[in-house]
Amino acid sequence: MMARSHVVVGIAAWIVTAPLLHLPPTAPAYLLLAVAGSLLPDIDHPASWVGRRTRPLSTGIAAMLGHRGITHSAVAVVGLVMVLVQLGYRHGTVAALATGYLSHLAADMLTPRGLRLAWPLKMTWAFPLCRTGSPMEPVIVAMLVVGIAWQVLRHG
Ligand SMILES: [Zn+2]
Repeated sequence: MMARSHVVVGIAAWIVTAPLLHLPPTAPAYLLLAVAGSLLPDIDHPASWVGRRTRPLSTGIAAMLGHRGITHSAVAVVGLVMVLVQLGYRHGTVAALATGYLSHLAADMLTPRGLRLAWPLKMTWAFPLCRTGSPMEPVIVAMLVVGIAWQVLRHG
């Protein structure tokens, strides 16, 4: 999906997840971390929003590991959480970043290319609803946000 879609889905995911963790869903620092997490996996794509801003690192990752490889896998999520915990970051920081990161993976699974969640295994997971950048992408994202908002309003 496009960066703007990942940002919207990341924020929506955090607003749903934060109360479950007894954390403030609208705290700006946590929202920014969720947004950062929602963009981070595409550091493996030099033409992505985050990839353009992290060259030559993104170019190197793309050349060595390819797009939608390790950075779009469970290995990356577990590794990210373990590193942050080891560095002593508070659980709210880790949760917000990880929630954003997971939202990115969930959103990318909605595209036909899917994800190799169990990287380095070659098996891919996909629930193809729209192609990246297609006119359906904002429709799917809007439906997702409306569904989440409806659930939040319904359950307080
Ligand atoms: Zn991605």
